[in-house]
Amino acid sequence: MAKITDLLVAEHGTPSLGNFRDPVKEIFYIVLSARTTESLYKQAHKRLWSQFPSLEEIAKAPLARLRNCVATAGLGKKRAAQIKVIASKLLSEFGPRPAIKLRRLSAEGAYAALRSLPGVGPKSALCVLMYSLGFDVFPVDAHVQRVLRRIGLIGAGAKHYHAQDLPPGFVPSERSKELHVALVIHGRRVCKPRAPLCNECVIKSICKTGRVAQR
Ligand code: SF4
Repeated sequence: MAKITDLLVAEHGTPSLGNFRDPVKEIFYIVLSARTTESLYKQAHKRLWSQFPSLEEIAKAPLARLRNCVATAGLGKKRAAQIKVIASKLLSEFGPRPAIKLRRLSAEGAYAALRSLPGVGPKSALCVLMYSLGFDVFPVDAHVQRVLRRIGLIGAGAKHYHAQDLPPGFVPSERSKELHVALVIHGRRVCKPRAPLCNECVIKSICKTGRVAQR
């Protein structure tokens, strides 16, 4: 897997996928990103923070205004309610500067706090831990799951790992984020959902599916 990580990182680099170092901004970014396209959730996230520049303002905002603000990402009513509850809960549990308090927690503590927020599932919580809090955890989204399954590393049913666990054994130590980002980009550009471009793939000689495709 270290070889696969090296090859994918050499091919795709480790560019930003737009995630935030501020865990609070990242929580809303991830909640807005579920089941919608990148440009739409990015627009909604930008509009949210430009109209309500603080958590206090989000917590106090009328639901109808929040709904209009995030409508482009879809599921406006549901997401507006989630966002309002998340803002209130972060303020009540961590005070006016939740990012500072979240950074002081262990991986397990931060994971539990994040999972208690509406709309934050295991993968979302792990993304905040990895992108914003710097923990060596390994979220598995649809791209990562698909590529790992085709490589032959996980079974068809394996989707998420829990923060309480160590990263899966096949992930090289301290390289979870690099590998995650490279797999997401590889899944978007090369190992596409319907028709993987195995002939153009830099790991085709190592990948179980790629080796079959070359026969
Ligand atoms: S060889 Fe094909 S199936 Fe394997 S990772 Fe590359 S594109 Fe995906």
